Amino acid sequence: MSPRLSFRHGVHPPERKELSAAAKIRRMPFPSEVVLPLSQHTGKPARLIVAEGDRVERGDKLGVAEGFISSPVHASASGTVAGIDLWPHPDGTYKPAVRITVHPYSAQAPRPRIVPHWEDLAPGGIVQAVQDAGVVGLGGAAFPTHVKLSPPKDVQIDTLLINGAECEPYLTTDHHIMLEYPERVHLGIRIMMRALSVDRVMIGIERNKPDAIEAIRATLPTDLDVTVHPLTVKYPQGAEKMLIKALLGREVPSGKLPLHVGVVVQNVGSVAAIAEVFETGLPLIERIVTVSGRGIRQPSNLIVPVGTKVRDLIAACDGLTEDAHEIVFGGPMMGAPQASLDVPILKGTTGVIVLSRDETKPKESYACIRCGHCLDACPVFLNPQLLGQLALAGRYEETEAHHIWDCMLCGCCSYVCPSNIPLSQLFQVTRTAIGRLKALAAA
Ligand code: SF4
Ligand code: SF4
Repeated sequence: MSPRLSFRHGVHPPERKELSAAAKIRRMPFPSEVVLPLSQHTGKPARLIVAEGDRVERGDKLGVAEGFISSPVHASASGTVAGIDLWPHPDGTYKPAVRITVHPYSAQAPRPRIVPHWEDLAPGGIVQAVQDAGVVGLGGAAFPTHVKLSPPKDVQIDTLLINGAECEPYLTTDHHIMLEYPERVHLGIRIMMRALSVDRVMIGIERNKPDAIEAIRATLPTDLDVTVHPLTVKYPQGAEKMLIKALLGREVPSGKLPLHVGVVVQNVGSVAAIAEVFETGLPLIERIVTVSGRGIRQPSNLIVPVGTKVRDLIAACDGLTEDAHEIVFGGPMMGAPQASLDVPILKGTTGVIVLSRDETKPKESYACIRCGHCLDACPVFLNPQLLGQLALAGRYEETEAHHIWDCMLCGCCSYVCPSNIPLSQLFQVTRTAIGRLKALAAA
């Protein structure tokens, strides 16, 4: 029997993946308008290079990367730039975005382009092609992938971990990528191995996806050291630090990154996206999104043009049910509730979950009863109860002394809290406040 690969602490929320687990990936129709924010990745926003009235073809650049930790943004549909506006962003703010009126009679065929052959490229050439294509982490964090493929010269990477855990409830995006496109995943792995010059790859998949494990195993390359590892089903098994602990037994120290323990972690969807860049020559202009929850009539796994408004996505899934109550981008543990049906799908949007009233938590919270459940749940061994008290009191320096920056914002503490205290949301707000205060002090 294989060992139970996992980590300490964590939680077991209801999975609810059955709603969309049987839904094969299908392509949604092009909407009449797409809205592409210049900031949809970690790092500096892209720099705009188009103007109102410009005609653009699918795949054309709208904005170029502004520095190394940045990513270009491309048109996801052929049409006319109708405006450059401040537009509702899934992070709750308004951000500059390019609004494109989609040409109603266009076949949406991209311009003919030269497809670089990855085997003829040096590692640096692969990294450049990945940056030019605007590939970012598709697991939610949207960190530019070319940066992960460029570790510092003095760091030795010995293992590439492919993250197929998909531990957030409801989401079945990565599940279906592995099930329906296993060869694409393996091609992406080959390309990444060359870019990173690594010889060993481990693919971690939670045991609740036996058909995906089978599909990936059945197509494993015989000429490479690539292995598949079924993981214990536990949240947040897909967090990078938890995956490294489960598969390699290595601890990423406080304040350090996976590369400091010789590892690069890449989401399975990003790996497939890299393969697609070299198969089609097209940049990252569409992605697979799970649309699920009891508030949607037809739970689906859809290929969606980046920039599609959530109202068009809902229409492509037969609309809302009568008890639809809340829309969340991402999964219910780490996702962000949305206040507008005009927010666009970003490169990093894994899922749109429409929760019915009985799937949502009550909003009221109560005083801490010092039960300690949050300490027992925290996968990185923080003291959420103490951090929460310090954050509420505005004692920001002390929250830093108690490692608030090591918090993964995974939501385990909020999930188990019997007083319904929104701890992880509190830590997110506190970190934003600390960042702003530091920027002001440095100005
Ligand atoms: S949100 Fe932060 S403090 Fe809470 S359980 Fe997750 S890592 Fe720990
Ligand atoms: S779980 Fe909630 S009530 Fe219990 S100690 Fe933590 S913050 Fe307090």
